[in-house]
Amino acid sequence: VPLPSEFLDGLRSIAGAEYVRTDESSRTAFAADALKRGAHPPDAVIFPDGADQISAVVRLCREHKVPFVPRGGGSGFTGGSVPVRGGLVISLERMNRILEIDEANLIAVVEPNVITGQLQEAVERVGLFYPPDPSSLNQCAIGGNVAECAGGPRAFKYGTTKQYVLGLEAVLPNGDVVRTGGKVVKNVVGYDLTHLLVGSEGTLAIITRVILRLIPKPPARTTLRATFDTIEAAADAVTRVIAHRVIPASLELIDGDSLEAVAQYLNVRALAPERTAGLLLIEVDGLAEAVAEEAVRCEQACREAGATEILRAKDEAERQELWRVRRELSPSLKTVSPIKFNHDVVVPKARIPDLFGLVRRLKEEYGLRIPCFGHAGDGNIHVNIMVTPGNEEEMRRAHDAERVLFQGVVALEGSISGEHGIGFAKARFLPIELSQPTIELMKRVKQAFDPDGLLNPGKIFPD
Ligand SMILES: Cc1cc2nc3c(=O)[nH]c(=O)nc-3n(C[C@H](O)[C@H](O)[C@H](O)COP(=O)(O)OP(=O)(O)OC[C@H]3O[C@@H](n4cnc5c(N)ncnc54)[C@H](O)[C@@H]3O)c2cc1C
Repeated sequence: VPLPSEFLDGLRSIAGAEYVRTDESSRTAFAADALKRGAHPPDAVIFPDGADQISAVVRLCREHKVPFVPRGGGSGFTGGSVPVRGGLVISLERMNRILEIDEANLIAVVEPNVITGQLQEAVERVGLFYPPDPSSLNQCAIGGNVAECAGGPRAFKYGTTKQYVLGLEAVLPNGDVVRTGGKVVKNVVGYDLTHLLVGSEGTLAIITRVILRLIPKPPARTTLRATFDTIEAAADAVTRVIAHRVIPASLELIDGDSLEAVAQYLNVRALAPERTAGLLLIEVDGLAEAVAEEAVRCEQACREAGATEILRAKDEAERQELWRVRRELSPSLKTVSPIKFNHDVVVPKARIPDLFGLVRRLKEEYGLRIPCFGHAGDGNIHVNIMVTPGNEEEMRRAHDAERVLFQGVVALEGSISGEHGIGFAKARFLPIELSQPTIELMKRVKQAFDPDGLLNPGKIFPD
């Protein structure tokens, strides 16, 4: 059913006609996110500026019973911003201003669509630091990060987005504007609605302003790369680094299959010593003296675990070179196959060897290619099940394998998503991890915020 002209006129009078689009190419541009599974074009897209406009838009949607979906940078991996039931996409892209960097109180106040990397650069210019660093930081926005509770390599030491959100302004599905938390680090008045909205995947409210905690920028850092013959030895090194009482800022693990893909992608013969089955990228940061001491301890831990080679970046250029492999991972897997089920599973770090054991069984039993890499420091491993386009039989095996993966991860006391969320891609797997009473409680929360079910329908909960 096409949107009523009265509704479209209403949108135009709220945001201005140039900020309301119904043409084919705009609708196509908002039909998918980085999940790239299917195309679900919205009936219209609006680019409002300000909570007042969003509030008016939402009230109009309610009046006409039109579903609406907030969208940030569109880099989500689970289809969170995809309008699976059609309706209106509310793009936050015009709301991209840094409102305040308060150096005395170590706080930043931002509109939702400030690009994460740009906020980091702005605060670092004044010696401050915003640690959450999803690899998509040049594309994703703070609002999307809050909605997904984004993590990244630095989460091991510094935590994920939720550790930095002090307060929010948000538009509820009935059009009311609420403010939660504030500029203080201590605030226990009433329920913690701030952290109910963090990770709510755009299903409870539309975030229009974010108050973030900042920390001083660590003055020094050292980057190491250690290689191992087996993935078990690399996992053992992770345990040993922690046993040496070091919490690196990043502790990234890359398996042999992923390394090979990057080498192919970059067209180099080898990126690491021959037969490398596990590579660790370790970065320690802080005061120079502490960093020097911690780097030595990390090298010792890697040697104890049987590292075949340990490199230390001498300058920023060498550091960039070491990180390059990590950064090129996502695009390079496309050389293996354009279709991948990218699962950001997480287990307690001591169970990482068990997780790799599980992946090995899946590779053997289902005959699949499954390169893995990820944030070993917090047990968050990206397991990429690769599928050849057009191979229906392999696709079936891959679907069977992903279910067994999720069951195995939950059995290891882990979780089926560490940072990408559920969206529509993983909704059917929710009952593997959450009990029925837990899901019912979550649905009652959704009901309390959005009784008409118009905000981002078809997400998180299985039909
Ligand atoms: C190459 C690549 C690397 C990635 N690496 C990481 C990584 O290291 N760590 C990580 O955590 N993620 C990673 N991601 C996933 C993705 O970047 C994150 O989930 C990110 O937080 C999404 O932000 P976005 O602004 O693009 O949100 P979108 O994709 O636009 O939206 C994501 C969800 O948030 C909701 N939303 C967006 N804005 C708002 C708002 N203002 N109010 C309410 N809801 C809103 C949407 O409805 C949707 O449900 C990666 C993605 C890519 C493509």
